[in-house]
Amino acid sequence: MHLTPAVAALCISALPKAAHATTSETCCSALGATALKSQVVYPGSAGYKKSIDSYWAENVQLEPTCILQPRTAQDVSFAVSTLVAADGGACKFAIRGGGHTTWAGANNIVDGVTIDLSLMNTTTYDKKAGTASILPGSRWGGVYETLAKDNVTVPGGRSGVVGVAGFLLGGGNTFHTARVGFGCDNIVNYEVVLANGTIIEANKDSHADLFKALKGGSSNFGIVTKYDMRIIDGDKLWGGIVTYDNSTTLRHLEAGHKFINNLENDPYASWIGMWGYISVTDQNMVANALEYTSPVAYPAAFDDFITITNTSSSMRIADIWNLTQELGQAAGYRDVFLTASFVNNLDMMKRTVDIHNRMIEEAKTGAKGDDYTMSTMIQPWPKLFTDHSTDLGGNMLGLDRFDENLFQVLFDYSWKDEADDALFNQLANSALEELTTYSKLIGADNEFIYLNYANNNQNPLSTYGPENVEFIRTVAKKYDQTGVFQTQVPGGFKISAVSNEQEDGEGSGNSRTFAGNDCRQMGTDIAVLKFDVECHRKDACDILDVIFAAAAVSVPALVVAKLSSLYHRILERQKAYNWDIHIISAVICGYSLALVFALILRAIVSQ
Ligand SMILES: Cc1cc2nc3c(=O)[nH]c(=O)nc-3n(C[C@H](O)[C@H](O)[C@H](O)COP(=O)(O)OP(=O)(O)OC[C@H]3O[C@@H](n4cnc5c(N)ncnc54)[C@H](O)[C@@H]3O)c2cc1C
Repeated sequence: MHLTPAVAALCISALPKAAHATTSETCCSALGATALKSQVVYPGSAGYKKSIDSYWAENVQLEPTCILQPRTAQDVSFAVSTLVAADGGACKFAIRGGGHTTWAGANNIVDGVTIDLSLMNTTTYDKKAGTASILPGSRWGGVYETLAKDNVTVPGGRSGVVGVAGFLLGGGNTFHTARVGFGCDNIVNYEVVLANGTIIEANKDSHADLFKALKGGSSNFGIVTKYDMRIIDGDKLWGGIVTYDNSTTLRHLEAGHKFINNLENDPYASWIGMWGYISVTDQNMVANALEYTSPVAYPAAFDDFITITNTSSSMRIADIWNLTQELGQAAGYRDVFLTASFVNNLDMMKRTVDIHNRMIEEAKTGAKGDDYTMSTMIQPWPKLFTDHSTDLGGNMLGLDRFDENLFQVLFDYSWKDEADDALFNQLANSALEELTTYSKLIGADNEFIYLNYANNNQNPLSTYGPENVEFIRTVAKKYDQTGVFQTQVPGGFKISAVSNEQEDGEGSGNSRTFAGNDCRQMGTDIAVLKFDVECHRKDACDILDVIFAAAAVSVPALVVAKLSSLYHRILERQKAYNWDIHIISAVICGYSLALVFALILRAIVSQ
């Protein structure tokens, strides 16, 4: 029997509630009372254990009340209608694609239902249309393997184990990005289950607003049950991993810096620079993932890397499936990812590796466990990537605001011992904070945070630019009027967690931004400090004006940098947690005034 979502919803709301059942038990019972019964698994069953164990990072292996494993878009639609109607809308649920996000609660839930899409995992090639239809539970390895039979591929994950669904919803950086844009730029159609259970197609002609919003806007609109992607002819590459002694760092950074600026001359080339420490072997080394998206060995684009003496190399001509098996990282560890973007600047790159090395020393003295790895990755993020996105109709990332070539840093720490959770999270956060502060000091900062690498204390959607934030907010409201994907699905990065400038201030007339308020500390090297503090209230802005003016003439540059960093951190958290902006403004202003006047007083007294 096939029930429409509306009929299903009626039936569910009429179901008697189990006596003393908690909300999440009621939600599981509601699913269990439908035709989906055989697809619901509970703690203690083999299916449940297999699903939980297959999350990549151990720290995200939460235990939901039950897991639903749909097989079709209709199953997903039925499940959403059921969960929205059951228990007066109190059911919380999570959506899981490949399960590779490293922070707990993004793709799983404790008190609620997890919709695990992993059984929806096939790929179908439509030769005539030149597209591949990929279901959301697929992993990239499986996609490449299927498409290899026809000697075609798609721009997807660089590690075969990674899930398709989340990767494409967050953007998707690939070996092919310099040639064809991000993974999401190459999607021509999405099949989406909306909050009311309707299944729709979103493409450039139908629901075009949703089509665009899904390109980077993540899980704010519905559950994607199919991605149709444009294919690329030929799946053979020249690539592999080359390792080097740590003493060659500077040459890699110089080569990488140049590579980013030259990528437009040969967009077939792709480089990931990795600095990695492995505790069990006590090795700290450099590794490059070099990939050329055509079966051509030793292309000139890699000359500066190739001439550096290596300690091992797996460079070969192989298909993309083979190469993405090699780039997989071990699963079963506790992990943290933290990321930021910077202007392509050699000093920034050097500082990145310096901080990486220092964090390793701190881990050596602080770690309780003896099995951990600390990787710091540097990846190109040049203007060229964005140019392709624009040509293909645009996405939500908002990178077209930036004129400079960027590079991206990913601090990727993995450890075995739960007792080290606090240590590695703290080290990754300190590393990022220090690097970001330095970038502001030398004017190499960039606000963009890549969602797929972001941690839960970051707010990537807020860095997409005001227009795109507003667009995502509007589209989310249009397709999910009751906010199911904001409240009933708490996992992932939510547009509702991005503060609404208009509502926070006292009207748009009072909202303005300090941009490029340069403070110069005459006669010192660290001369230029860039302030970019968003001000929401006129009085707070006026006070900050005075503070910055005073700071420019009387406060040592480092103190000003610290203040700037503090403002940024507080304002980021204000956005993330929706703290009251008036209280925050008052605290910032009060603290700053007190500090600045104390410093001025000290300077006067000491003269
Ligand atoms: C080893 C490794 C290698 C990686 N390599 C790359 C890389 O080369 N390039 C890159 O850009 N990123 C890379 N990443 C990051 C990766 O893109 C993200 O972790 C991404 O979220 C993975 O997708 P997933 O389906 O496994 O995610 P999940 O964790 O399952 O989901 C991510 C988010 O999307 C939501 N979601 C999942 N499926 C759906 C759906 N069908 N509809 C609506 N919402 C959904 C989830 O609720 C969750 O909030 C890598 C990560 C790892 C761990």
